[in-house]
This record gives sequence, C-alpha cells and structure tokens, in this order.
Amino acid sequence: MMSDSVNPSPPGRAHNLRRVLLWTALVGLLMVAQTALVRLTLDYESGQAQAHVDEAASEAAGDIKRSLNRDLQSLQALMWSEPLPPHWRTEATELLRGRRELVRVEWRDAQGQVHLAVDSPYRPPVFSMMPRKDIDADSALACGAALRLSGPVYSRSYFVPQSTGMGLEAMDVCAPVTEGGRHAGFVVATYSLQALLSETVPHAIMQRHELSFIDGDGTRLARAGSMVRGQGVFVAQRLIDLPGGMLQLRVNSTAGAPDLIPNLATALVMGLSLALAAVVVLLVRDVGKRGAVERALGEALAFRKAMEDSLVTGLRARDLRGRITYVNPAFCEMVGFTPQELLEHSPPPYWPPEMAEEYARRQAARLSGDAPPRDGFETTFMRKNGERFPVVVYEAPLVGSRGVQTGWMSAVLDVSAQRRAEELSRHQQEKLQATARLATIGEMASLLSHELNQPLAAISSYATGSINLLREGPPDPSTLDAIRGAIERVAEQAERAGRIIKSVHNFVRRREQARETVRADLLLDAVLPLVRLQARKTGTRIELDLPVAPEPMPRVVCDRTMVEQVLLNLTRNAIQAMEEMPAAQRVLTLRVRRSNERWVRFSVIDRGAGVPEEVAQQLFTPFFTTKTEGMGLGLSLCRTVIEQHGGALSFENREPLAGGGTEFCFTLPAEAPAAARGAPRRAPAADIPTPSQEIR
Ligand code: ADP
Repeated sequence: MMSDSVNPSPPGRAHNLRRVLLWTALVGLLMVAQTALVRLTLDYESGQAQAHVDEAASEAAGDIKRSLNRDLQSLQALMWSEPLPPHWRTEATELLRGRRELVRVEWRDAQGQVHLAVDSPYRPPVFSMMPRKDIDADSALACGAALRLSGPVYSRSYFVPQSTGMGLEAMDVCAPVTEGGRHAGFVVATYSLQALLSETVPHAIMQRHELSFIDGDGTRLARAGSMVRGQGVFVAQRLIDLPGGMLQLRVNSTAGAPDLIPNLATALVMGLSLALAAVVVLLVRDVGKRGAVERALGEALAFRKAMEDSLVTGLRARDLRGRITYVNPAFCEMVGFTPQELLEHSPPPYWPPEMAEEYARRQAARLSGDAPPRDGFETTFMRKNGERFPVVVYEAPLVGSRGVQTGWMSAVLDVSAQRRAEELSRHQQEKLQATARLATIGEMASLLSHELNQPLAAISSYATGSINLLREGPPDPSTLDAIRGAIERVAEQAERAGRIIKSVHNFVRRREQARETVRADLLLDAVLPLVRLQARKTGTRIELDLPVAPEPMPRVVCDRTMVEQVLLNLTRNAIQAMEEMPAAQRVLTLRVRRSNERWVRFSVIDRGAGVPEEVAQQLFTPFFTTKTEGMGLGLSLCRTVIEQHGGALSFENREPLAGGGTEFCFTLPAEAPAAARGAPRRAPAADIPTPSQEIR
C-alpha cells in the first residue's frame, strides 16, 4: 500500500470549503431557529395576556349589562302614577341603598317635570352645585325616546360638577309609566358611571385591570379598578348595547409587554439558546484544533513519505498472516514488481519458485514466534525478469499504537553489487598472492642455485677424485676404500641437494586453501629450511623461542601455506634488515607464545636499525618499498592473510637496551579447548566477512 500524498490538493481545498459552508449553515440555522423560538415564546406570552384581557373585558361587560338589567327590574317597582303613594320615597331610598351605582331616582310627570327626587344616602346630592334643570337635556331626550318606544331608554352620559371641585360622569335611564294606556309619567334613575364600574365588576378583575368607559372619540369618562395604571399594551374594548345608546367599556391590563428575561419560559429558551451558542463556539474551537492537528499530521505524513521515497533501502511490512501490507518505492524498484502485484500475491512473487517451499516453512516459523536474528539474515530474492539476487533482510516486529504486534517490518538491502565487488577483490587477492609467491620462488631459485653449488661442487670433486684414482690403474684395496668413501660422500651430497630442492618444492607446491589445525612448532619447521637458506647467505644466526614443557605446544587453526608464506616474508625482511649490521649482531629470533585462551602469538624479531617513522606510516601500503629490488607487496599481503584468519599483524621498534631492531608479530586463532571442540563453532572470520548465512 503506497500511502497517498497529503499535500493540500484541489480536492482538499474543496473539502475545506465544504466544511466551512456546512459550519456557516449550521450556525446560521441555529441562530434563526433560536431567534424564532424566542420570538414565538414572546408572542405566545403576549397572546395569553391578550386572551386574559379579552376574557376580563367580556366578563366585565356581561356583569355590567346584567347589573343594568337588574336595576331596571328594581325600577319597575317604583313605577307609580300620580298621586304617588307616601311610601314611594321610602322604596326609592331602599332601592338606592341596595344599588350603589345609582345616585338618584326621580319621579317625573307626564310633561317630564321632576316631581320627586331621592338621592343616594351614600354621597352628597348630585345636583347640589348645579341645578337639575340646567343639565336635563340628555335625560329629557332619553325620556322623549322612551315615550316613543314605550320602554326604558338610557341617555348619553353627561358631566355634573360637584361641590368637591371634581365632577361626576352620569348617565340616566328613563322609563315611561303608563296607566290604563295613558302616559302617566317617567321614572328616571341616574347612574354614576364610575360607581357602575366599581360596584358591578368583580373584584378579581378590578385588581388586575384598569376599567374605563370611553366615548366615541376615546375620551375617558370614568375609570375604576387597579390603582396601577394600565400599560396600554393589552387592551380590550366591549360595547354594551343599551336601548337609546351604548356604553363603550375599555379594559386595560396592568401587565406590560412580556419582558425578555423575567419571563420563565422565555428565560428558559434564552438560557438554552445561550448554552447552544456556547456549545457551538466550543465545537468551532474544537474543530479548529482538530484542523490544526490534521494539518500537522498531514505534514508529518508527507515528511515520512518523502523520507520513505528517498530511501534506497527497501521497506516491506507484513501482517501477522504473512501478507504484504506495505512496500516503499525502493523495494518495488529492487524486485521490479508494482505495489499492486506485491500486495495482491501470496506467496510473494519475488520468492524464487525452487525455494518457495523452504521460504514458506521459514515464514511459518517466524509467524509462530521465532524472532529473526538481530544482525539480519541473507537470502535470495527473484526479480521480475527471473534474475536471482542476494539480499540482506533486517526484520523487526511492527507494534501498533496500542502496544500490540500487528506484523513485521523489514528493511531489505540488495547486496548483489557488494557480492560482485567482494568476488572481484578475492580474485585480485589470489592473483596478487600467486604473483608474490612466484616472486619468492624467483628469489628462492637464485638461492637454490647458490645453495646447490656446494653439494654439486663437492659431488663433482669427489667424482673427479674417484675417476683420477681409477685412471691410475687397477685399484689396490686402499684405493678402493678411498673410492668407496668418495662415492659415499657423493651420495650424501646428492641427498643434501635433494633435500634442498624438496624444501623449495614443498613450498612452491600450490594447494587448495584449507583450514587445518597445526602445531605451532611444525609451522616453523616447515619454513626453517628456507629461512636457513637465506640466513646462511648473510651469516645470520637463528634463535627459536618456543614454549617449553610442561607447557603444551600451542596448536593453531590456519591455512598452512598462507601462514608459511607470511613467516617466510617476515623472516626475509628481518634478515635483510640486519644485512648492514655487524655479523655478531645478526640474530633472528622466532618466538611462539599463547596470548590467551583464543589466540596464539608469533613474533619475528630482528636486531636491525628498526623502522623509521616515515616508513612506518606506509609500511602496509602495497608497492611501498625502500629496497632497490623490492616489490613492496610482502607486508600488505601478510596483513591480508592474517586478517582473513581473524587475527592481527602489528610491529614495534625495540628498545636499544633490549637489543634494538623490530618485532613483527601476528596472532592466529588457537585450537578450541577440548571441551568445546565437539560443539559447532563459528568460523573464525570467514574469507570475506558476511552476515550470518541463512536462507529464507
Ligand atoms: P619489500 O620487502 O619488497 O620491500 P615489504 O612490504 O615486505 O616489501 O616491506 C616494505 C618495506 O618495509 C621495506 O622496504 C622496508 O623498508 C620496511 N621493512 C620491512 N620489514 C622491516 C624490518 N624488519 N626492519 C626494518 N624495515 C623493514
């Protein structure tokens, strides 16, 4: 699975825009909904208040109407024609006592003249300031109408000034009295409009409302009810139809327009709206934070992807069932398959078919919990074109964010180029060593010729002597003895020459590289004849310094031919380094010691002039030499050979007091102790160091 790139692409921007639009829509809709809700709640409250007022107005109007009707019925009892009975006044007074809204009852004759009038016992007479006849127009009109209609008729309301300086809005009802079909007079009752309101409307309504009678143009004629003035917000008007006219009742609630806050329902809705707004704000902030985190995550992902894409190491992740879940571009390039091919196929297409079975077994073992080696393992993969190539795989458990292993992550290195380079270098090393050996052989050949000279000269002179003796005639017994002695010498010398040739032959003989366990002294013995050859030429003395009994002679694991070559090179250098020295000082010491359990140390010590500082720095550089006929390959090859054995080659100039000169020493792996010998042992530094071999 190739992770998608995370940079803000056009679809990403469109996505952002969509999100902003959605959020704006959400906030807008919430605001509209909340405003509407508050508005509706207020409207509902207002509606309720208005309904109350309407109800109160209807009730009040009904009460007033009923009261007026009751009054009319009571007035019927006072309808007498002349002459009035003496108890009329008493009855009228009684009526006024029972009906506080009435302020006066009059008896008028057929012409409308007031005959008798009784005033309410509860208040001063109404017409004390201004005589009745001066404000009689309205009642006269009413009486005229009553006569025509033959029924009670109410007058228009009119203002009567009072002695208190105030006034009284009054209204009359005029009822005609007939007797035997003849008009006999009128009964006129005067109402105080204010009393009509306060006496007839129930207390409950009065408490919460201001009630008033108004005339056509809205002027208030009388008011009663709550001392708190009506707010004028919730008002209801009712017309009270009366014969001859009508009364207009206005009821004004003391309640004002519903306030936003003190109102419980509204407060609740407002509170909820505020809470909702707060939640939206918090959500917006949260979304903002999430956006920032998303961006940071995106950047981190982009960074990781860039890193993975630029890697030359192949990366591969597998789940716990062994299926590939991720590969990076380097891995795809390495095996030549596309990510889809790699993700879809099981077993992986890069398993060489001939090894698939074995790999599947290894994978099953891995999945069942066998941890892979920490230092990686080498195996063979197959490219798409069928080419097999070596890889080194480093594998680690893939642990998810919850700490549970979800699979394996592997880093895969293509080591085919490295292997080729190593192969090439090994070839060159071998060639170089062969060349060096040939050079040594050349040198040996000259030494050999020099060395063979002696026995050959001896053989030649013994042979010549014997021939001469034989020429002198038939040999006598003493001559025969001499000849026998000479021929024995010849045989001895010939054997000596043979030995010399054999020692060179032994060295030159090319063998396959092989590790074997050799006793250290035998290694020295093998090269000693050749060393002696060189030493004798310059008159160098050879000292052997080997561990003495009871200490056992150490045994080393090595490629014998190679190590012999090393010894030969070092001894030759040592002998050459002492050529300029006085003869007594030419001593070559060969020392063998056990360094520790694992290593044996060989030293080649000369008493020459030592290695100068400037030479020391390049000592192991190939082709560096200070000798006219030197090749400069000896030491560099020696070091390669020793390092291939896992050991180390070093040198050190010796103190003049200790005899001066140089000590070259190298280490070789000792034979494993007897106890461990049975156990398989890791090869002491293989020819070319490689990660542990494992095929999967
Ligand atoms: P070559 O012997 O062909 O010159 P080597 O690699 O064996 O090549 O040696 C390189 C140089 O190291 C020699 O030329 C010499 O100057 C110096 N050298 C080697 N061994 C000794 C030694 N024992 N004492 C002093 N100098 C030495």
